[in-house]
Amino acid sequence: MGSVGSGGQAVRLDAVRKVYGKGSAAVAALDGVSIAFGHGSFTAVMGPSGSGKSTFLHCAAGLDRPTSGSVTVAGQDLAELSENALTKLRRERIGFVFQAFNLLPTLTVRQNITLPLRFAGKRADRLRIAEVIARVGLTERAGHRPHQLSGGQQQRVAIARALAIRPAVLFADEPTGALDTRTAADVLGLLRESVTADGQTIVMVTHDPVAASYADRVVFLADGRIAGELMAPTVDAIAERMTHLGAFDDAPRRGLGGSASTGGVR
Ligand code: ADP
Repeated sequence: MGSVGSGGQAVRLDAVRKVYGKGSAAVAALDGVSIAFGHGSFTAVMGPSGSGKSTFLHCAAGLDRPTSGSVTVAGQDLAELSENALTKLRRERIGFVFQAFNLLPTLTVRQNITLPLRFAGKRADRLRIAEVIARVGLTERAGHRPHQLSGGQQQRVAIARALAIRPAVLFADEPTGALDTRTAADVLGLLRESVTADGQTIVMVTHDPVAASYADRVVFLADGRIAGELMAPTVDAIAERMTHLGAFDDAPRRGLGGSASTGGVR
């Protein structure tokens, strides 16, 4: 691997540490994470509760700044940006999809989808919007409001909204967490399709081995560090790794220190 320039990579983290709290109460939520996500790759990030997944996502997406180390998105070192410039980069280059759909109830599907473009001060390219709405299969529903749609359809609107800006990377945080199995498969198939057909880059945090199996690669976190990865992952292989990491135990694991009393992890 060596030191590759950021040209071929949508996102790159180098020796990222994130420490919460001070002194004896300090917790290293991320403890030296280095990883890159190539353009057009679909990666799932998994790990036990408390392993650092949310912190990872927040740092990688420029929602939070690491204590040390660097994060590069679309060739830009985020540490070099002022808060305003970082906000602008997030709006223009980064897409987000969360478990909650976060659609505005008074706006139509099309208006919800074009909203981020307006925030970014860009004109909505009609063709691009029509393309994105077609991609998520909602052409017939473009004039509907969120309450007229099913949960799966609402999440598809949220995905279209994220894709409309042509983000360098789409971060998804448990995107199917609120959906039933069949609808989840539909949404995951859509994410997969945006990677395969459009070369979209996706980084998705999930605890669900089935969801993760749609990715090209699964990266495992444990105690704030990368604890391995799987390429072309199968559901069984993912579930086995997660079991070894203690992810399916009831007891949540903590970042650093204080975990000795958790017990019963193996
Ligand atoms: P995950 O998303 O995998 O559950 P998190 O990134 O939320 O993990 O948390 C990783 C570790 O950092 C945990 O030990 C958690 O308690 C700690 N942590 C996360 N956010 C904060 C915070 N704002 N203040 C203090 N500790 C935090």
